[in-house]
Parts: sequence; C-alpha cells; structure tokens
Amino acid sequence: LRHPDQWLLLSYLHDFEARPSVTHLLEHPFIKQAHGKDTALKKQLAVLIRDQQDVGCRTRTKYVLFSLSSQHERINTRKTMLIESSPDDDLVNLEVLDEETIITHLQKRYEELQIYTYVGDILIALNPFQGLSIYSPQFSKLYHGAKRSDNPPHIFATADAAYQGMVTFCKDQCIIISGESGAGKTESAHLIVQHLTFLGKANNRTLREKILQVNPLVEAFGNACTAINDNSSRFGKYLEMKFTPTGAVMGAKISEYLLEKSRVIKQATGEKNFHIFYYIYAGLYHQESLKKYRLPEKTAPRYIDSANGKVMQDIVSSKLYEEQFDAIQDCFRIIGFSEEEVNSVYRILAAILNTGNIEFTSITSQHQTDKSEVPNSEALENAAALLCIGPEELQEALTSHCVVTRGETIIRTNTVDKATDVRDAMSKALYGRLFSWIVNRINALLQSDTNICGEDSNTGGMNVGILDIFGFENFKKNSFEQLCINIANEQIQFYFNQHIFALEQIEYQSEGVDASLVEYEDNRPILDMFLQKPMGLLSLLDEESRFPQATDQTLVDKFEDNLRYKYFWRPKRVELSFGIQHYAGKVLYDVNGFLEKNRDTLPADIVVVLRTSENKLLQQLFSSPLTKTGMTHSYKSVDTMEMMRHPEETTNMRRQTVASYFRYSLMDLLSKMVVGTPHFVRCIKPNDDRQALRFSKDRVLVQLRYTGILETVNIRRQGYSHRITFSEFVNRYYYLAFRAHQMPESSMENTVAILQRAKLNNWVLGKTKVFLKYYHVEQLNLLLREVM
Ligand code: ADP
Ligand code: MG
Repeated sequence: LRHPDQWLLLSYLHDFEARPSVTHLLEHPFIKQAHGKDTALKKQLAVLIRDQQDVGCRTRTKYVLFSLSSQHERINTRKTMLIESSPDDDLVNLEVLDEETIITHLQKRYEELQIYTYVGDILIALNPFQGLSIYSPQFSKLYHGAKRSDNPPHIFATADAAYQGMVTFCKDQCIIISGESGAGKTESAHLIVQHLTFLGKANNRTLREKILQVNPLVEAFGNACTAINDNSSRFGKYLEMKFTPTGAVMGAKISEYLLEKSRVIKQATGEKNFHIFYYIYAGLYHQESLKKYRLPEKTAPRYIDSANGKVMQDIVSSKLYEEQFDAIQDCFRIIGFSEEEVNSVYRILAAILNTGNIEFTSITSQHQTDKSEVPNSEALENAAALLCIGPEELQEALTSHCVVTRGETIIRTNTVDKATDVRDAMSKALYGRLFSWIVNRINALLQSDTNICGEDSNTGGMNVGILDIFGFENFKKNSFEQLCINIANEQIQFYFNQHIFALEQIEYQSEGVDASLVEYEDNRPILDMFLQKPMGLLSLLDEESRFPQATDQTLVDKFEDNLRYKYFWRPKRVELSFGIQHYAGKVLYDVNGFLEKNRDTLPADIVVVLRTSENKLLQQLFSSPLTKTGMTHSYKSVDTMEMMRHPEETTNMRRQTVASYFRYSLMDLLSKMVVGTPHFVRCIKPNDDRQALRFSKDRVLVQLRYTGILETVNIRRQGYSHRITFSEFVNRYYYLAFRAHQMPESSMENTVAILQRAKLNNWVLGKTKVFLKYYHVEQLNLLLREVM
C-alpha cells in the first residue's frame, strides 16, 4: 500500500454492511486531513475510494490502493489503481533482459513504493527508507498460504514459502538475507520472524511474545550507530525458529558470529559504542541510580563519550535512551531472565565503563624504568567492586604480568602502553563473553518452553533459519574486522552461486536436460586464496601470529611473498597495506594492528583475578578452560559440501586465534545452511543518503551486478527451480490422480499422469527426475491442499 493509514481506512470501510455513503467517507480523518479545505477534491476522493472498494470485493483482491501526490495535495487519479499481482512483479517475465531495462523497471516500481520484486524465487528488497503500512497482521493473513501470483511480491511471501516448504516436505529451510550495510537486512529478518510467529501460532502466547523479544534484546547488545546505519548490526546472526511437525512454533535458537568487540574500547569518529551502554547509562541517570552502579554522574564514561561531552548532553536532554532502557528491561523480563541475572549483567556493563576510565602514569625509579601505576584509584576501585574482586589484585594484574622461565615465576612490570592494552583487552573480553552468555541464556530460556508445548524438540522438530550477517564493507580505512566480514560475504556468495548456477548446470547435464550454460563469475579462487591450507591468507596470518617477534610489517611481506593471485596486490605508495579484488569490488586493507587483533590475547593474570570473583555470572564467564576471549560456544558437526572441501575443520578445530575461530564458525554456519532448502532475499540500498524515494541508478546497478542478480535473472528465466525424483514426486502428489488406497508405482509414467491431471505444461523430464518451474510446485501444493 502506498500511503500510511490505508488500513485504517479500509477497516473503516469494512464496518459498513453495504457501500458506505460519500457523506460517511468524508468524515473519515484520513480524507479530512489529507485534503484540507478543498471540498470538491475530498468528494472526488470519497467517490473514488468507494468505487474502488466495490471493485476490490468483486475481484477478491483484498485491498484497495490509491496514491496521493502529497506535494500538490491532489489526487493523482492515474496512479489510483487496484493492486493485484502483475507479470511485472518478476524480472524473469521481462521481455528484454538487459541491465538498462531491469534497472528502469526497478526504479519505476520503487517510485511507486513497490519495494519488492521477484527474480524467480529470489526476492529483491529495496530499502524504502520510510515506514510502510504493509506489515500489519492483515497482511500476514493475506499472504498466508496464498499462491505467490495472488499478491504482489512481499517479504511475507518469502517467509510463507519457507514455512509451507517446511510443513509440506518436512524439511528444514533457511532464508539467507544479504546486502550492504544499511540495505535493510535486519529489518527484513524482523519481518520474517513476525510472519513466522504469526503462522506458527504456538498454543501459548508467552512463547510467541518471548520470540519477538529476542531480536530487540540481542540487538541492544550487538548493534551500534555507525556512519552508514544508525542501527548497524555489529555481529552476524543466525536465528533458527523451531516448529513442531504440525507447524506450531516451539522455540528459537540464535547463533552469533564475529561480534566487533573492538567497538567497546574505541569507535571511529561519528560512530558510537554498542547501544546498551547508552541505554543503561541514560536509564540509570534518569532513575538516579548511577551511584548504585558506581557510575560517574557528571561526565559520561570515556568508552561512550570519548569526544566532547556531547553524549552527556543527549542523555540529559532526551528521553529516547531512557525509553529504550525500559524496553530492554521488559525484554529481559519477558524472555525469563531472573532479576539477579539482569542485575549482574548491569554490573558487568558498569564495570566495563569504569574500567575504561582507569588511567595509568609511568613511574621511574632507580631500579625500574618501565613501570606504571594508577594515579587516581576511583575508577579502579569501582570496577573491582562491581566485579567483586579485590582492587589491589586488579591493579596488580593490569600493571604487571607473570613470566615463567625455567620453572621459575618472575613478575615483570607493564609500561603505560602495555597496561592500557591489558585494560582494554579485559573490557573486550568481558563484553564478548557477556554477549555470548546472553545469547546462550536466551537459547536456554527458549528451549525450556518446548515442554509447555508437550513436544520434545528432538522428536521430529523442524526449523526455519534466518541468516542476517553484515554485508560487504569497504571504508576509507579497512582493518582486520572488515577482512573477516568480507571473507564471510565471499563465502555466502559462493554458496549462492553454487545453489543458483553451478549445481543447476551440473544437474541439468547429469539428467540429460538441455541447459544452455550460463556464464557467471565464480569466486571460488578468491575463497581459496583466503581459506586454503597451509598457504591461504588466514593460515599465513595464523602462522605469523605464533612468532613472538613478528610485526605487521613482516606479516604483509609474508602475504606478498606467498599469495600469488591476481586478486591480491600490494600498493607501492601506502606502507603496511594490501589490496584485494573481492567479488564485490576492490578493497584496500590497513595491516596496522592485524597481528594483535588476531592474537586477541587476554593475559592469564587477568583471567586468574576474574576467576576469584564472587559474582556468579562472572565466574561462569571465565570458568571455561579457554584462555581466548569469546569462545565459549558448543559445536556440533554436520556433513556438508564445504566440510568436504575442508574435512579437517570438524575434527581438528584450532581455536588459538580469531582467524581460526572465524574460519571454524564460518564452516559451522555453512553446515547449518546447506542442510536446508535455501531462500534468498537480496537487500538493495537505493541511495547513500538514506532518502525515501531516491533511486540512484549507479548504486543499484553495482549491487545488482555483484550480488549476481543480473545473471540470476537469466538462468531463472530458463531454469527449473525444482527437481524432484519420480519416486518422491509420485509419493508426494499421487492423491491428485489416484485414489488413496491405490499406492501407484513410482515411475516416470505415473509422474506424467499426475502432471497431466493437474493440467500443467512446460515441465521437463530428466532421467530420474522431473524438472519443474517454481510456479508448478505452487500449483501442485494448492491442489493438494484442496483434495486433502
Ligand atoms: P542492514 O541490517 O542491512 O544494515 P537495516 O535493516 O538496519 O540494514 O536497515 C537500515 C535502516 O533502513 C533501518 O533502520 C530502517 O530505517 C530502514 N529500513 C530498512 N528496511 C525497511 C523497511 N522494510 N521499511 C522501512 N524502513 C526500512
Ligand atoms: Mg543489520
């Protein structure tokens, strides 16, 4: 729908038994407001709406659409139309398929606020950068179990297809949402969860409510304001919604990937720390409970306000953060965290903020030159108190470290720089582990609800997974974090290509079906350059990280000596940098800090002190035997095509460095994805200014190109998205042509008989499978629902 309030208007219309009178309609606030004093215009509009509604009922189209040209405050009658699905909804149906046609087509749709468009069964979603009124429960109803061609493209249709696929075929599904930062991935993921919760009506409302709180809670801890997006996800998220065999929601599980922990201690200019820090600081400020959590009252802590006190001004003057703090408290409560747990979480957050305020100065004495001390012990004492550890022990652990040489333990002092690093490492570790703990705790709390449903999650449950992971990044300065993110995107693109192109071709050929081969950009060589062992970039990085004498300089030299690929280059002018030609474009990486970020060391002295804590939560966070930060997950291994490529990943997982952990989680993620039937949502950012209705052709074209949509259009047009073996087909659909007791033989002949009975055309027979277009399957399922 193209204007907010249309549903209000529509429900108003539905309250009338017969057609409403024009006088009645003129009383509606929507018409009153929109058209000021112009009575003639109002009347015209009222008549128009009334007539449209009548047509709407007749054609079974469930909603009326009209658009107002707001600048001129006039009714644009030509634009007034009934929304029904049209062939325009799918790029595959376009007569001409060149870039220019596709882009013009998308632009036209976007300007009419048709943000969704199909490419076969892939959904393109253009960010509207404005609220749309197309996500209400009425819309969920509209898309529920509907044939795709009944309605305009919609994110609910994709969610619905996944759900129906799961219920009909008893098969896990996964929805992969991709796109640049700010393209609308996270919003799309929310909408999918919203529709799935609607569909999988759990018997108990509590569970539904809990599931809906998961995203807001996790995002308060994992999202932050960046230069590109005010609510940018700084971690990757895979959310699995679990359903009973009959399709009722019975739980959810999140996995998190690559939290950008460095944000805790430092943010780029114009960017902010994770949301939760502002929520809690503002919330406590307004509740006048800063003292209780030993937080400074006059100036906001350095980690959240390094610049100029601007944050403090915002906090004092605005209620926004405070409201969000209340919302987060509700989330905790609804999901089922105990008061004690929430209090411990706040304590740890407050401890991190205090830790950031600990300063060091160097002291020089006759015997020791490189020594540091804490001149003002207030922050230190606060942090220690909040963590329930001794302040002296904490100071000791920050300003010195133990070295064991030849069985003897020697205590060495830390320089100011070293002490500062240790302090920041501690903050990052605390936050990273706290985040993982929250995620695991949510999973546990949502798990226990399976009992309420009376069904055990291990017996026959199925799930729909939703992947929302940072898009490709290319900033002025790109560091280790960007490298990891971009490698993850290469991997997801590879999976997409595999699914759409490569597997398609292989299957056509092996089934003897004619496939005019479609050219596509295979990014596998780049992926190999990163992931190969022992000479891939990540392996080289790990190797170098093990040498104590290594520096970022030796690292980049090592890359240059060993990575002989056309995708890698070393710019002559810029020291300590290298460039990569990613599938999505060229990126220059700054190697400064790579080694340290990869090692991600948390000194043993800190771990020892933190383990002495009397705080239960803190004990848990540091009870694992691992010395690395944030690696407190449990894993299961699943056989997948990627696992087959790197078989050693599952058995011999090395967790020493961020790179090896990253590689592992990437494989873990992929293993989850490949067992399900994939659905792709490609989010596109129409402009960089976050402006509604502004469509930059160049920007969109770039994104279409590198997401493979242009190539996809081609192959989908010719392609058969479903291939089903004869036996499975007959098994699944024999109701359509045979009687229940007949049990027909699983043969090609019977397959054909069913297809003919269903009056379908344009399918193709392979050697063992029937090749169907996506709309065939829709029609078959619809027929099946009718007979069953
Ligand atoms: P990403 O996760 O891809 O970085 P987000 O999902 O956070 O991007 O979207 C960025 C912003 O764009 C959102 O905060 C919201 O303002 C806007 N946006 C995205 N999708 C929609 C939508 N479907 N309707 C309205 N606004 C949207
Ligand atoms: Mg996001």
